[in-house]
Amino acid sequence: MKKSLKYLLLLIFSFGTVYLMIFAFWHRTNSELLFLILSAYALAAVILSFLFVLYSRRINQRKTESANRRLVRLVNNLSAPAMLWDDELQSVIMNEKLRTLAELENDPQEKLDAKQMIPWLFGKKQLGEEELKEIIRAKNQDYSFVGKRGTQRDMIWNTSSLLTDENGVSKFLTIGLDLAEIRTMQTKINTYSKRLAAAEGKHALSMELTEIGILIGEQGSDQIFLSAEMRKMLGYNKEIITVDELRKHVFEADLFVYDQHMKSMKDHMEDYLDEIHMMELRLCGKDNKYRWYLYRFKATRMKDSNQLVVGGALLDNTREKEKDVEIERIAYQDSVTKIHNRNKMMMMGTDLYQCIENTNLSYWVIVTDIDRFHIINDTCGYDSGNELLKSFSEAISTTLNLGGFAARISGDNFALILRATGDDTLPKRIIQKIQTSLAALAVGKFANRSLTCSAGYAMMPRDGKNFEEVLEHAEFALSAESQTMGSISAYTKEMHDTILFETGMERKLVDAVKNHQLLLHYQPKINLADGKIMGLEALVRWQQPDGTLLNPANFIPIAEKSLVITQITDFVLRETCSQMAEWQEKGLPQLVVSINMSSTDFYQENLPRKVMALLEANQIPPQNLEIELTESLALNDIDLTIAQMKLLREAGIQLAMDDFGTGYSSLSYIQKLPFTMLKLDQNFVKHMENDPVVQEIVSSVVRIAKAKNISTIAEGVETEDQAKQLRLCGCDYAQGFLYGGPMTADDIERFIRKNQESHPVY
Ligand code: C2E
Ligand code: MG
Ligand code: MG
Repeated sequence: MKKSLKYLLLLIFSFGTVYLMIFAFWHRTNSELLFLILSAYALAAVILSFLFVLYSRRINQRKTESANRRLVRLVNNLSAPAMLWDDELQSVIMNEKLRTLAELENDPQEKLDAKQMIPWLFGKKQLGEEELKEIIRAKNQDYSFVGKRGTQRDMIWNTSSLLTDENGVSKFLTIGLDLAEIRTMQTKINTYSKRLAAAEGKHALSMELTEIGILIGEQGSDQIFLSAEMRKMLGYNKEIITVDELRKHVFEADLFVYDQHMKSMKDHMEDYLDEIHMMELRLCGKDNKYRWYLYRFKATRMKDSNQLVVGGALLDNTREKEKDVEIERIAYQDSVTKIHNRNKMMMMGTDLYQCIENTNLSYWVIVTDIDRFHIINDTCGYDSGNELLKSFSEAISTTLNLGGFAARISGDNFALILRATGDDTLPKRIIQKIQTSLAALAVGKFANRSLTCSAGYAMMPRDGKNFEEVLEHAEFALSAESQTMGSISAYTKEMHDTILFETGMERKLVDAVKNHQLLLHYQPKINLADGKIMGLEALVRWQQPDGTLLNPANFIPIAEKSLVITQITDFVLRETCSQMAEWQEKGLPQLVVSINMSSTDFYQENLPRKVMALLEANQIPPQNLEIELTESLALNDIDLTIAQMKLLREAGIQLAMDDFGTGYSSLSYIQKLPFTMLKLDQNFVKHMENDPVVQEIVSSVVRIAKAKNISTIAEGVETEDQAKQLRLCGCDYAQGFLYGGPMTADDIERFIRKNQESHPVY
């Protein structure tokens, strides 16, 4: 009954009663009238109550009918077999799916006899109070019945109590699951999984399918089907578990991956259609141990039902993962020194750079290089070289004990990362410590070797926009001073441009050698006593595409910093030898031709052999070749230089000390080294005209050289006066524009012929 109507009736009765009371008080003497009115009032109340009850019943009935109708609609709409019934077994409403299962398709709904049908469907003869209670209590219990046409049906019935009507009759809803249908679905899923695995083209996968776990899920459901192998592994008896149940097996750190995949699979399973996806995670087995699994899966549409299912194979890849750890070790550890390698340094450095980029933290990045390490390799063998690298890395690690990170980034290059403390001398001090440790390794097979290392350093993040650049800049700093042993240099911005220019030049030089852009000019050397030509100096030139010639001062220093110089020397040597052979054939007098060599050339262990082979091939007497070396070269590695020079000397080749007087003028070297010629630098010549002290020095040098059986030649002689002075000082030979500058092979040939014919005396 509507609330408003109830209130209206209450109001009428209340007013009526109050009015009646006032009326009765007013007419208290007139009892007949009072009786009459009260009787009328009671009659009206009875009639109204009756009407009220009738109305309420009608309303309730309507309500029940509409609830029933809704229930019937619901039951009929269910895709699962279902029925609506009451505990009095007065009626039963079976949906189409159940009627089909029960093979009652042809029996109309109204003809169904509840008293007979309901016990039959529950596999019972009758339904007493006890049986009813059991049915309502039991969820997911198996029941069997035989359909009208005799088909055995195995069912799981779920019964819930819905409502009790005005007569005390309870309504029930029972929903069933046809076990045969579930079995068919599982077979389908199994077949699908096998097909999926085979379709992947994974031979092993399809062959070993029964050996691997399979997980299958259906769109819109949080249930996962487990294969027998999976159940064994996770310790389940049931074939279907929920997403949350499986989640409990996932390793904590892998939950993120699991949740992400499960969520996107749930929300967008179609995205996984026909494309293999992978998820790697650790699962806890029933033995309480975590193992690594690789789940390869994809979604597909079941042909018959059009239902989207996702499924795939779960492979135990614990062993592969263990191998990964080993691979990682191999990938990030240097095999010789067992410290980190370049890959690890790059990874560490990059991470660190990103971490400190927006902070005020700084780190030093240091790169070291063992000076002329290749000589150790060449002369002591690779095993000894490796031994030195090992000891050196240990020395670095010990130095870094205070903190920091070190790695061998290439051959004899090590890189270090150190926290900057605000003290700018820190990198220098650390490098010096490392240098001291390295020097201390010069014992045993390394005895008498000067073991030094050079280093360059830069600051991170200040000196580069990423770690790679900072490291490169530390390497720039290192190479900027590469000619000086034991150098320590900090990266500067100016260095950057220089290095870029030089590396560009280096590349061009390599091409120049290949493309025959190098050529030789020859400068005559004159005997000061008779003005006759006694020899030539081969001087290299680089012919540019436009025909201009680049002087060696522009490119030799750059070439000397890298191995390009050895290619240039090879060219000069070959070219000189073949030119000499040509002149020999032409009948020109046999002159001593000198070539210039750099320290890098001298570090080639096979240098004497290489030179001898070329001389032999061109049939040139070794005494006709002279090699000019600068003083600094001799200073760099005295032991090796002496050894190489001795070999060259023993073969008959002449050796000249070039540019004597520049750098460290030490006459002691002509005592130690087997030079045959001393070339006085043009600075002496320039100053001796006006400076008697210089004249005195030149005289002394010449005298000492003579005492050691070493001839002397002066470079850069431009005037007659200079020549005269030199003669007075006892100098043997002269070279300079006064006689002739560097000239082409043809020009020098003419020069030689003319000089021979004219017998000039200067
Ligand atoms: P250097 O070996 O001392 O060569 C002598 C340099 O002095 C030559 O310069 C020559 O042209 C220059 N010169 C000769 N006479 C005079 C003179 O009267 N006055 C003046 N002011 N200069 C004179 P160049 O050819 O430019 O060579 C420069 C340097 O480049 C050479 O000095 C040498 O150290 C180096 N060089 C030249 N060719 C080669 C080479 O094939 N290999 C190597 N490693 N270095 C080379
Ligand atoms: Mg020279
Ligand atoms: Mg010189």
